[in-house]
Amino acid sequence: MLFGRQQKNPIKLPDKEVVEWKYTTCGYCSTGCSIEVGLNAAGKGVSCRGVGDAPVNQGKLCIKGIFEYELFDTSNRGTVPLMRKKPYELYEQTSWDQALNKSASEITRIQEKYGRDSFAIVSTGQLLTEEFYTLGKLARGVIGTNNYDGNTTLCMASAVSGYKRSFGSDGPPGCYDDFEDTECLLAFGSNLPEQHPIIYWRLRQALEKRKFPIIVVDPRVTMFAQMADMHLPITPGTDVVLLNSLAHVILKEGLEDRAYIEANTTGFDDFLAVVEQYDPVTASRICGIDEDTIRNVARLYAKAGSAMSIWTMGINQSTHGSDGVVGINSLNLITGNIGRPGGTSLSITGQCNAMGTREWSSCSGLPGYRLLEREGDRNHIADYWGIDADFFPKKRGLAQTDIFPAIETGQIKGLWLVATNPMTSMPNTARIRKTLEKLECLIVQDAYADVETTEYAHIYLPAALWAEKEGVFTNTERRVNLVRNVTEPPGDAKPDLWIFNQMAKRFADTGRNKIEFPETAEQVFEQLRELSKGRMLDYSGIDYATLEKQRGVQWPCTEGAETGTARLYSDGKYQYPDGKAKLIPLPFVDNNERPDEEYPFWLNSGRVVEHFHTRTRTGKVGNQNKFSPTPYMEMNPDAAHELGIEHMSYARLISRRGDAVVLVQLTHRVSPNQVFIPFHFHECVNRLTLGLLDPHSRQPAFKQNSVRIEAVADQVAAAATNRAARSF
Ligand code: SF4
Repeated sequence: MLFGRQQKNPIKLPDKEVVEWKYTTCGYCSTGCSIEVGLNAAGKGVSCRGVGDAPVNQGKLCIKGIFEYELFDTSNRGTVPLMRKKPYELYEQTSWDQALNKSASEITRIQEKYGRDSFAIVSTGQLLTEEFYTLGKLARGVIGTNNYDGNTTLCMASAVSGYKRSFGSDGPPGCYDDFEDTECLLAFGSNLPEQHPIIYWRLRQALEKRKFPIIVVDPRVTMFAQMADMHLPITPGTDVVLLNSLAHVILKEGLEDRAYIEANTTGFDDFLAVVEQYDPVTASRICGIDEDTIRNVARLYAKAGSAMSIWTMGINQSTHGSDGVVGINSLNLITGNIGRPGGTSLSITGQCNAMGTREWSSCSGLPGYRLLEREGDRNHIADYWGIDADFFPKKRGLAQTDIFPAIETGQIKGLWLVATNPMTSMPNTARIRKTLEKLECLIVQDAYADVETTEYAHIYLPAALWAEKEGVFTNTERRVNLVRNVTEPPGDAKPDLWIFNQMAKRFADTGRNKIEFPETAEQVFEQLRELSKGRMLDYSGIDYATLEKQRGVQWPCTEGAETGTARLYSDGKYQYPDGKAKLIPLPFVDNNERPDEEYPFWLNSGRVVEHFHTRTRTGKVGNQNKFSPTPYMEMNPDAAHELGIEHMSYARLISRRGDAVVLVQLTHRVSPNQVFIPFHFHECVNRLTLGLLDPHSRQPAFKQNSVRIEAVADQVAAAATNRAARSF
């Protein structure tokens, strides 16, 4: 008798007819997985596989990476430049010459009429580092606008700001290998299994070898919280209170690393004066974590031989985002947990090259972590580019989140968006729509012609995507990874580097600064090596061949070094002039929009594993949509019962900004006074969000908003509305 599978047809894997595998790096999240794309005889991408000897992912990929080859064949790619006189009119196809000439002439016209800073540029975390550097050179050195920023203000600005305030510089000090050595992991607002599945797998791998406690701080019972040893369901927006209280217990009980504090930090007395006010009893009433748990976590963390903290948007996307990062850094400084194996303060980055833009784009300063505010930095870059240092502003201009209000008030008249989609990503969609309609000129440069923001554009420039071009990304652990050119862009779409270089040529004969723009990515990379030599982010020992051979190299990597450096600050020397880190007091002011009688629910948002950001790409990939097809809301069954709302019915959410209709999923993952919606879908969660700004980082508080919820009588009409939200 035959049993089981022998009775069935054997599993047959489809032969994808791969004739060649090409090395590159995944273009979605910041994990930095090394990936090989399989090409068939016609040169078409038909498969993806992880690279076995890559230190980051060791052969693994998540669902996004596995199907990434499908991106090369997705619908509505831009294949030709488009122009029109006014938004909402029909676009007309045009040539690159005409589109670039028109773009340059509109930039010039607006700047001559309203001033240099009246034209703004907002870029992304998705470009290659060489492209970021080139755009920065064009924006800062030629166009000369100080209103130039990246969409990383929506995701990583608080981490950058917090690192700068604590350590004197941006730059995550730790690495994934720290999981192998840590004795305690504290995760704030990070749903690692869904956001960064391969980093999560690295953590699981370390846990299989050696058990250590995992503590997850999150208002929602996320997938990560479910596997944790302790889950702290914190009241939204109160992380600073919890962090102050953890420091309070550690210092009260003498569990701090006194020698490390004395040798390597300043500001201890002021820090102590504030944390003394946050005893666990007082703190528990604000942050919702009981006093015993606060004491237990503080003791566990401080007594561990080495302990590490990780975080993502739960900390960053808050009115206290920068303070939250500073609080995490201070927790690690007082316990001596920076720069040692298993002891670190590691922000898990979002976009594939959010780190590259932080390092080289000049958005918040000048290339290579240089500051506009420092005369020496201005002079150095001006010399290198061959321009007058007085051309640079002496402090940075508006962040992305301040650029949109400046359009509203008429200070900014023109905008160039590069690979970013504010119509879906920015809070308060209705306000952003009205803002974009006010522009005299909107240029959208993107791989997709149907990205929602193109609806408001005058000029559309079709760009190449991910491995249709070549260059480097930097990942969460400062590893510079090589993106090899796997295939060519469709139609007349062009690599962003080509577009920036061509745009620069349009300004060359207009009396503006004349700067040399190298043609190839590898030539640009040589400039990064030169400009970084001797600095914290030293690239001088890195070249493309080494990057491919070693599957990425962590900076700093000095000239002649065999490889990069796993951790920063191992010598206790920080980037402030005195070489010390700062312990910064963090008094808490509750300025969030909170639930009240009229709007009784907290609205929280986050990610699902299948989608990436505004679904510009994953919304076009079959398997990603099959598993996560529609906007939905997680709601507590008891709260739903009181409002007469059923599982898998549609409900309407209303905030002070707008409303949205979503499918209801009843689950105890959220408490009765909270709801959760994935942020990926157009015309959904950001119709509702307020997005108050962090005073230091200018990052919006996407996760602390209040809404009321109504059952919807007409379920058929509601389904149609919900479908509209996913149709882009
Ligand atoms: Fe790509 Fe991130 Fe998935 Fe790795 S974890 S395959 S980098 S999306």
